[in-house]
Amino acid sequence: MSDILFIYTSNGLHKERFIISIEVKQRPKRREQRLRSDQKMAAAPETKTVHSPALTYFSMLSLLSLCPPFVILLWYTMVNADGSVAQTWNYLKQHGLQGFIDIWPRPTAIAWKIIFVYGAFEAALQLLLPGKRVEGPISPTGNRPVYKANGMAAYFVTLVTYISLWWFEIFNPTVVYDHLGEIYSALIFGSLIFCVFLYIKGHVAPSSTDSGSSGNFIIDFYWGMELYPRIGKNFDIKVFTNCRFGMMSWAVLAVTYCIKQYELNGKVSDSMLVNTTLMLVYVTKFFWWEAGYWNTMDIAHDRAGFYICWGCLVWVPSVYTSPGMYLVNHPVNLGMQLALYILVAGVLCIYINYDCDRQRQEFRRTNGKCKIWGKAPSKIEATYTTTSGETKTSLLLTSGWWGLARHFHYVPEILAAFFWTVPALFNHFLPYFYVVFLTILLFDRAKRDDDRCRSKYGKYWKLYCNKVPYKIVPGIY
Ligand code: NDP
Repeated sequence: MSDILFIYTSNGLHKERFIISIEVKQRPKRREQRLRSDQKMAAAPETKTVHSPALTYFSMLSLLSLCPPFVILLWYTMVNADGSVAQTWNYLKQHGLQGFIDIWPRPTAIAWKIIFVYGAFEAALQLLLPGKRVEGPISPTGNRPVYKANGMAAYFVTLVTYISLWWFEIFNPTVVYDHLGEIYSALIFGSLIFCVFLYIKGHVAPSSTDSGSSGNFIIDFYWGMELYPRIGKNFDIKVFTNCRFGMMSWAVLAVTYCIKQYELNGKVSDSMLVNTTLMLVYVTKFFWWEAGYWNTMDIAHDRAGFYICWGCLVWVPSVYTSPGMYLVNHPVNLGMQLALYILVAGVLCIYINYDCDRQRQEFRRTNGKCKIWGKAPSKIEATYTTTSGETKTSLLLTSGWWGLARHFHYVPEILAAFFWTVPALFNHFLPYFYVVFLTILLFDRAKRDDDRCRSKYGKYWKLYCNKVPYKIVPGIY
């Protein structure tokens, strides 16, 4: 799906480099040759691909064209077709394209109003709430983004405000559920326009030297151009789209679904409670660790384009929240014991996922001078050369969770998603779509990250792979 590696050139532009060779030998002479060839890439487009270029373009165009209608079909099936894919399929077979156009809700004034008020509120919190000054990782062109770590405060203020509005009968969150289709429709179009804005901004007013064009409109639009786009000096666009709009909407919608079920049935089922609690624990963990997220691939490597921004603005509020959306109309009574087992298993997975991320970041922050599972960490000192010719060193942790498999942290991530979906039991497949999607996304991501690290660290990555041979699941894969 995503086999593109971004390489920066000394003049700050980037080129998409498609990885063809896994073998990267990092002998000094070869490094110089690579550096020279990377610099040449600034002038001449690279044409080698892991998959064929045709397949790469096909997958980009497919995602661009299929994701928007999928969001609408998912909402329609969950809310209006009893969660049954077969029912939606039969409807489409009967009514064809016109039937699909008929079920696509038009963005209404109320939908735009909800989105605008929510977005403006989150933007204001991002700008105004106090927070510690945090530095992000140094970028390939030598910039170090600076952030205000006020995510947890924004999360707390958002949920307290939302629940208070409901409690004091100022705004009923069920309005959001009742206009969900229109809201998704508005988000789909609004976010596409926003991605065009990002594309134009990348061309005419990039915020830093971590920006550039591949010379190809589709790639620039899909993968983005800027790594750290900002409005003014302080308003970080990716923090807004990924964290304060996308991840925050996950929590807000989880609460909305709960309230809607309460309004419909006069009570909240234990399945809904387990689902909402686990999703809220997950999102709370995210905001607790938000500054750590600013060191991950999403922020430090993936640029602001359709892939990441449209994904966070539309895909997260719709697909990520979909198990809860399904449960609104399908309350299941699990019984206290089963509900508790699922809850505990889910919390444990979220904790392990958090601990993997924490371990890696603590290890890097202390330069390896920390304890991993009570012992001094085992590590590899990996040197690499930047495109400007500087030699740098990174430490690779080879013990703890990172000694089990190179991307073990994806296992508890997938299992946690399974545990907040399984309260829906197994009457329909659709609630499990997110788990399936996440599994594909993370397996693809592990490959993408391995390719990037292999290309960055060469023989040191090979050494890591020899020491920790499994990619994701210890002993299996
Ligand atoms: P990270 O960016 O956190 O980790 C990968 C990076 O860590 C590599 O690029 C490399 O960067 C560095 N690294 C790799 N191996 C080691 C090692 N052994 N020791 C030290 N550093 C190493 O990964 P992700 O962004 O994929 O994941 C972050 C979190 O986000 C996870 O919890 C994941 O589950 C979650 N996630 C959730 C998704 C969802 O949709 N729900 C999607 C994606 C992620 P460097 O260049 O610095 O060496």
